[in-house]
Amino acid sequence: MTKAHVPEPVESMGLVGGDVSLDFVNTASGRSKGSFQDKLRTYEDLVTWAERAGLAGTSWGSRLRRLAAADPRQAARVLEQARSLRELLFRVFSAHAPSREDLEGLGDTAARAASMRRLSRVDDGFAFAWPQSDQLEQVLWPVALAGAELLVSEERARVKECASDTCDWLFLDRSRNHSRRWCDMSDCGNRAKARRYQARHRHS
Ligand SMILES: [Zn+2]
Repeated sequence: MTKAHVPEPVESMGLVGGDVSLDFVNTASGRSKGSFQDKLRTYEDLVTWAERAGLAGTSWGSRLRRLAAADPRQAARVLEQARSLRELLFRVFSAHAPSREDLEGLGDTAARAASMRRLSRVDDGFAFAWPQSDQLEQVLWPVALAGAELLVSEERARVKECASDTCDWLFLDRSRNHSRRWCDMSDCGNRAKARRYQARHRHS
């Protein structure tokens, strides 16, 4: 029997997807492999993940936590929205032919995210940015937009699922010869290497 994937909490989970939308997908694991694990237990977990993923600074995070504490029902709704978006992204990137409903769902969410952006001045130029907002769902906007942008980019062909029996993390294979098989060489990759070693040992 293979050793189960030990789930890391959102505070220390690996961010190895190579794209923020895939790192978001990886806040859950074991979907098709029989042991579903969800690292997003609360809205606060979602904020912690977003801070670690570099979506915004800690003052933004503290503000969202305060807003969530003041409106726990809305926080719970956005957590459900986050989980739906995450599973949608998983289906879109792990399926060869995503369903029309999923494409429409991602398109709608990304369009809403894009519509909330404003042009602003940065240093010597200009950039799109989300102005400060009280909406708890704002944490999902950069994720949805990144997912849609990845889907229409040439890099979509390089999205892979970890080859481990127990892990279904997605990642962008940026290796030169497209040979990356594991979400993380030091984690799933090492376990596979150890199993191959044991198997050889048994047969010799
Ligand atoms: Zn893995």
